[in-house]
Amino acid sequence: MSLETADFYHRELETIDRRSLRDLQNDRLGRLLQELARNQFYQEKFRLAGMEMGKVRSTEDLKRLPFTTKSELVVQQQTHPPYGRLLTYPVERYRYLHQTSGTTSEPLKWLDTREDWDSWMRCWGYVYRGAGVNEKDVVFCAFSFGPYISHWAAMDGARHVGALGLSGGGLSSEQRLRVLVDNRCTVLVCTPTYALHLGEVADKLGLDLRSSDIRITIHAGEPGASVPNVKRRIEEYWGASCFDHAGATEVGAWAFSCQPHDGSLHLNELEFLFEVVDPQSGEALEPGTRGELVATNLGRAGMPVLRYRTGDLVELTLDPCACGRRLARIRGGVLGRADDMLIVRGVNLYPSAIDNLVRGLPSVIEYEVEIRRQAGMDDLLLKLEIHDSESFSEVEQLVLAAFRSQLNIRVSVEEAERGSLPRYEFKARRYKRINDP
Ligand SMILES: [Zn+2]
Repeated sequence: MSLETADFYHRELETIDRRSLRDLQNDRLGRLLQELARNQFYQEKFRLAGMEMGKVRSTEDLKRLPFTTKSELVVQQQTHPPYGRLLTYPVERYRYLHQTSGTTSEPLKWLDTREDWDSWMRCWGYVYRGAGVNEKDVVFCAFSFGPYISHWAAMDGARHVGALGLSGGGLSSEQRLRVLVDNRCTVLVCTPTYALHLGEVADKLGLDLRSSDIRITIHAGEPGASVPNVKRRIEEYWGASCFDHAGATEVGAWAFSCQPHDGSLHLNELEFLFEVVDPQSGEALEPGTRGELVATNLGRAGMPVLRYRTGDLVELTLDPCACGRRLARIRGGVLGRADDMLIVRGVNLYPSAIDNLVRGLPSVIEYEVEIRRQAGMDDLLLKLEIHDSESFSEVEQLVLAAFRSQLNIRVSVEEAERGSLPRYEFKARRYKRINDP
């Protein structure tokens, strides 16, 4: 592969002009809706909206359809178990069955046909190629696997781009490090939190990860890899370039990094339609305004979502990117979840801002945040694990000053015993809400 095409999965499509992209999206939407003539859930949704599916000709027409929400999907599966009326085809046509983690609702069961899985593979093609992964790479997926789609799609995606894929399921962190080094893995895929945890374990073992063959890390599950100080810390531990991507079981892997990863992610407008709306009113927002991402997948006719409220807060930009792609970008990756906003003494902030601040302090190894809501305001107590060589009172002063100067809020700080806070392999749950007495 020449360097010219090394970082593209499909150069021609990724650099397509915006008007041709719109034509391509309209064409794919038309083909998708033809298939959905057999999908009971969407037939009903169009009928209730007074719309005829067959008359929707463009992405603009589609905007008259009410949003699809996660709770609608959950209700479908509760009232018509096991899959709801969400399947377009008879069940025998499907090949892949996965389940969501159920972090924010009842777990959803999700099916894909072989063609739907091809769409997942294309999405991962953009993710891997965007990060510079090629046929010479050995990709290590440090996941538990289990029923979660992202783990299997990441693994299969590595093979799809011609790399070797090695599963890190069923291993302890120490075993993972040994396997990864022994097999000369060059790419690590895991959550940002877990990449940091592996770094910590390596330190204890006296293993220098910078001398491993890992040259690229790709992350998902949490916004961390687009948070500057988290990205920097991962890169320091691993001596590798750190990339981000975003995805969801119901939607797909919908955004990816390019090189150099400047903290923004490209929206994969070749496989999805995107809108950004006001999380409260649902009104469309102009580029540059922070809002909730709404996505329609164009390549998963078997179990599609149209105008799906992702709950992810983003800030879209159409500014040209140095990589040459014309696909829209989101600045700073996923900025938070619409329902995760904290109001601390009148200041609105998202966990990623706290993550950036804490990860910028080399003394802190791990942390947890307790939130007490009183009179509609959140008070934060930070529990910090620090290096044995550090004095807690000095670290405390540093943390308090950083919160004051960077976020303009006052927090409380408490020392946590070394190794007492949980380490996460999947989605970190560092925020604990403590109910008012
Ligand atoms: Zn780019």
